[in-house]
Amino acid sequence: MKCYDTSAKEVARILETDLKFGLGERQSQSLLEKYGPNKIEEKKKPSMLYRFLMQFNDFMILILLVAAAVSFWVSFSNGESDFIDPIIILVIVVLNAILGLVQEYKAEKSLDALKKLSSPTAKVIRDGKLMHINSEELVPGDLIMVETGDFVPADARLVKSTSIKAEESALTGESVPVEKNAEYIASSDAAIGDRKNMIFSGSSISYGNGLAIVTHTGMLTEVGKIAKMIFEDESPETPLQKKLQETGKLLGIGALAICLFIFIIGILRKIEVFEMFMTSVSLAVAAIPEGLPAIVTIMLAIGVQRMAKRNSIIRKLPAVETLGSASVICSDKTGTLTQNKMTVVEVHSVNGTKEGKKELIKYSAMCNDTRLSDSSSDVFGDPTETALVLAALNHQENKNVLERDLPRVSEIPFDSERKLMTTIHKTPDGKYLSITKGAPDVLIKLCTFQNINQEKEFLKLNTQMADKALRVLGVAYRIHEKLPHKITSDYLERELTFSGLIGMMDPPREEAKEAVETCKRAGIKPVMITGDHGATAAAIAKKLGILEGSDKIMTGDELSRMSQDDLNKCIYEYSVFARVSPEHKVRIVKAFQSRGAVVSMTGDGVNDAPALKAADIGCAMGVGGTDVAKAAADMILTDDNFATIVHAVKEGRGIYANIKKSVHFLLSSNIGEIVTILSALLMGWGTPLLAIHLLWVNLVTDSLPAIALGLDSPDKDIMERKPFKGQKNLFDKWLWQRIGAEGIMIGLLSLIAFAYGNAFYNEVVGQTMAFATLSISQLVHAFNMRTDKSLFSINPFDNKYLLGAFGIGTLLQFSVIMIPQVATIFKVVPLTAAAWLVVLLLCIMPIVIVELQKASSGSPLVSKKKQITA
Ligand code: ADP
Ligand code: MG
Repeated sequence: MKCYDTSAKEVARILETDLKFGLGERQSQSLLEKYGPNKIEEKKKPSMLYRFLMQFNDFMILILLVAAAVSFWVSFSNGESDFIDPIIILVIVVLNAILGLVQEYKAEKSLDALKKLSSPTAKVIRDGKLMHINSEELVPGDLIMVETGDFVPADARLVKSTSIKAEESALTGESVPVEKNAEYIASSDAAIGDRKNMIFSGSSISYGNGLAIVTHTGMLTEVGKIAKMIFEDESPETPLQKKLQETGKLLGIGALAICLFIFIIGILRKIEVFEMFMTSVSLAVAAIPEGLPAIVTIMLAIGVQRMAKRNSIIRKLPAVETLGSASVICSDKTGTLTQNKMTVVEVHSVNGTKEGKKELIKYSAMCNDTRLSDSSSDVFGDPTETALVLAALNHQENKNVLERDLPRVSEIPFDSERKLMTTIHKTPDGKYLSITKGAPDVLIKLCTFQNINQEKEFLKLNTQMADKALRVLGVAYRIHEKLPHKITSDYLERELTFSGLIGMMDPPREEAKEAVETCKRAGIKPVMITGDHGATAAAIAKKLGILEGSDKIMTGDELSRMSQDDLNKCIYEYSVFARVSPEHKVRIVKAFQSRGAVVSMTGDGVNDAPALKAADIGCAMGVGGTDVAKAAADMILTDDNFATIVHAVKEGRGIYANIKKSVHFLLSSNIGEIVTILSALLMGWGTPLLAIHLLWVNLVTDSLPAIALGLDSPDKDIMERKPFKGQKNLFDKWLWQRIGAEGIMIGLLSLIAFAYGNAFYNEVVGQTMAFATLSISQLVHAFNMRTDKSLFSINPFDNKYLLGAFGIGTLLQFSVIMIPQVATIFKVVPLTAAAWLVVLLLCIMPIVIVELQKASSGSPLVSKKKQITA
């Protein structure tokens, strides 16, 4: 069915819908069953089995499996019954694969859940009631409303339109927004771009608003037909993941080379070729940090879930890392730093009379898009405008009644560029009244005053009100004899008669002040950006602590006159930008970035999209934000709250720190394993650890604590430090040194255990002791990762996951050695109490040694002590 070559009425008739009341709830339900959900089908996900098998798609694992098979075959053909080795290897490798699969699956599930959180909604009229529903529930025949910034949720035929423009580049390639018109009737062979009475799924409304009947949904829409993949958002790897992958590859090659070297030495030392081969391959499997990227993904995903509970929805994974290094947070004032609960507190009409005042309030309620329910108990709309409608109600003026007497025939919507809005109303005597409201400093210039003093007086009054932190709106009007033939700003918004000023209060959010303080302590500069008057902005910024000491305010005009170079130079002197337009935001972001800052920027409108993209962390408003802004953002604030951004930064820092802890732990453990085997061989001590021991350690005592560390609670003082400088710092030289030194420490401890067992008992006891020491000392060492300060400066036991990992790890390790049947499988022997005591002593050493090192390397703990004694 074509819906663009006939009238809207006809379309409504065909689709059995009502142009005023829309579909009935029952009717839409059965249509939903008939047509299915309104969504683009996604690519099928690979099966579980396939993904399980992909876990083995790792060079070293494959070699290991082949080696196990060979060993099995050798034993078999020799008529030996020693199949245990290959079977154990197989079991461990399979367990490893399962663990990997579970991790992958978990990460994916939580990302899916997040996608759902930010799934698009549509404004639909059903049974005469306006409601927000999930776009997937739309059906043909639904009556939908669209306005500036909305994504069009389905293909639809316009029935009413006001200056509506749609951006359809996804469908037509045309990047300039095209005008749409409900009255237009296209020819039946019109191309998509020429169907000017249709709006299409996959496009967005860049201006104006309209009412439309849904004609096609889901795969039947134009976008469903042409490109199934258009919305497929593959989550790309984050910079940290990429970096870790690179580092991992490098480390992998290094480990491989060392294993080869170990193999050669082993052969030279006349250790049996096959055993040596198994040992080196197992070492390679254990030491190559192939699990790093997966672990990082899980931690990012878990962090993202945690943040979702605290009102920040991460749309792009890299944002989590970037958040941790944010150094400037630019925030909108209205609604983010303030409550967005406006109340009119001052009304000043131009002539000071009671009638004048009433007229002023009446006009402000008419030039207004707020919807007032029939019972006048509910208002629905922008807080600035609802405040005006409510103020009118207080003066016994009902907006609905006013609009019945003076129906609106046309309008020019508000935009934050002009800072004005105009509506045209038909009067009973056949004339037309145009009402304009907007920022007084803009509006007053467009008015004609009887005497010049009056103009000055009101400009002064405007500043006085703004100084009291009021948001001020001016109202003016003009009478036209005939309906103006041009509905443009240039033509209508001039030669106006001034009506007066209205001041409204929008109190700062209570939690914002504390959040600003937190920012400052954390070395982050909070910046206020607003379309409001400089004085209003300054008054609120002072209350919140954003504007302090030598901080300055810049206005949009000043900013426009300044070159980007000059702006870059002085940007840090300013903490408030007032009367700015959205495009100024991009310049502000760029200026801070030119000084090396990592910038977060908030936004809600279509025009904010470029700034949200340009910022390192674009934050869109969840409540007041448009679909376009949300799509451009890295993060969505579901409560539009400044404090939420600051909290997200804290989470980001915590996640980053935790990833660092895990990676640090894994790498130092792996180095420990290499050091043990390599030094024993070099010294001619044989092999202190067998293949299965290495695989066991890799499975149990490496991965459990690594995950637990990823779930660690952030350091209490995480917001007392300066922001990290970019991602490079994850592996700074100092960290590398620590990782190396700690690896050597663990290696040496295992070697000592081996030597001890070897000397006082026999080689098998030595191997058992080395196995136990390697494994348990790593579990102990994991606690060292929790802080850079002394472990005892925090509660060492308050990470229950790590305690769990430690408990399970030691218990398993103990069982493997002490249960004779299991011990045989692992080729170890139960240890005596005396031997255990030695192992225990050795295993405590990582804490002792690292504590000493922390104390001596000028860690904060020491400097604090110095401060106390000084
Ligand atoms: P912000 O969101 O930063 O407060 P806006 O761009 O919304 O800034 O508003 C800038 C100025 O435009 C306000 O100070 C006010 O004077 C005027 N204004 C805001 N909303 C409206 C509206 N709905 N109609 C007319 N003027 C408005
Ligand atoms: Mg606003």
